[in-house]
Amino acid sequence: MDPRETSLSWIEIDAEAFRHNLSVFRRRLPSGSRLLLVVKANAYGHGLAPITQLASREAVDQLGVHSIEEAATVRAEGWRGPVLLMGPLHHLRVDALLDLQLEPTITELHVLDHLESAAVRRGITVPCHLKLETGTHRQGVMEEDVPSFLDRFRTARAVRLHGLSTHFANIEDTTDHRYAEEQLSRFRSLVASIESSGFSGLTLHTACTAALLTLPATCFDLVRLGIGAYGLWPSRETLASTRTGSGEAVQLRPVLTWKCRIGSLKWTPAGAYVGYGCSYRAVRRTRLAILPIGYADGYDRALSDLAHVILRGQRAPVLGRICMNITLVDASDAPEVALEDPVTLLGREGSERVDAERLAAWADTIPYEVVSRLSPGLPRIVVDGEGRLLPD
Ligand SMILES: *Cc1c(COP(=O)(O)O)cnc(C)c1O
Repeated sequence: MDPRETSLSWIEIDAEAFRHNLSVFRRRLPSGSRLLLVVKANAYGHGLAPITQLASREAVDQLGVHSIEEAATVRAEGWRGPVLLMGPLHHLRVDALLDLQLEPTITELHVLDHLESAAVRRGITVPCHLKLETGTHRQGVMEEDVPSFLDRFRTARAVRLHGLSTHFANIEDTTDHRYAEEQLSRFRSLVASIESSGFSGLTLHTACTAALLTLPATCFDLVRLGIGAYGLWPSRETLASTRTGSGEAVQLRPVLTWKCRIGSLKWTPAGAYVGYGCSYRAVRRTRLAILPIGYADGYDRALSDLAHVILRGQRAPVLGRICMNITLVDASDAPEVALEDPVTLLGREGSERVDAERLAAWADTIPYEVVSRLSPGLPRIVVDGEGRLLPD
């Protein structure tokens, strides 16, 4: 049976939209660049397990995770390809990293030393990515510290310098790419000096979605594609930069739809206060639909009194404060509304649409946060382009 029939809340993952987005980016990838799909934060809320499975079918070259725990899930789902650990590694988890055959991002000598000893004990080599600081001042080794890392790699037996990377600070926040270009030229000069000191055959990677779309020179050997694969734009500025450039317009298709069913339905009189804090008072007799989701599920509390959902193809406004697992909406104008009717919280229904960008604007945040905070406890269901259930 289709699990949606008996679920009160679920997320649909559109496999065809995902395939479409990947093909859009593949076409824009310079030849020689490979595609790493970033699946951190439960694959941007889409579900790490289903997205890993889809990635296996879609000729993705590599996956990028934040944590050892995510990497374990990816391996448990049968992904055998390379996995880049993008987040920090605790020095006491180096054995887990070796068990899972991950490629670590190196920013600390201490961790590198622990990796070296563990790998020497096992008689294996570990391909390491050294992250270089070029201006984001987040992860990354400062230029003056690079030589000590290179010394270690030179004398090490088991850790091997395999890749060099960096990450841009504001490539999605602006249409002015001067800062990104400065970071890029710093990266190039660091790479040149590392190569001239005797390291070769290195895998270079710097690009996220916005970089791939707006500054193709950032692509090098590998692109770390995140949000775009899920059909979302990194920002309005990225969209604007892409539209003003030459070449075909990029059309992305959102992969995720979040739905629930009306859990309870009733009439309240005009003048009734609705929800916690009495923040909303009904101006008329109101048909209240009680939805079984709230901020703990990822429906941001900042959407209180602000957002709308789609019910029977029409907008139904959120009334009052969003609760932990309950949200109240005004269903007075939805014709023939019934208990257990499906409601679209995020996605498209008929001619109406509530996209992640809209929710982000209401909640004063970015689409990344909207999707990545969707509760991992919500069931994820993979569907085709027509919304039909696909087998696992
Ligand atoms: C999240 C992340 C990406 C992907 O960024 P998008 O904007 O989602 O494409 C790439 N690289 C690093 C280091 C990241 O943390």
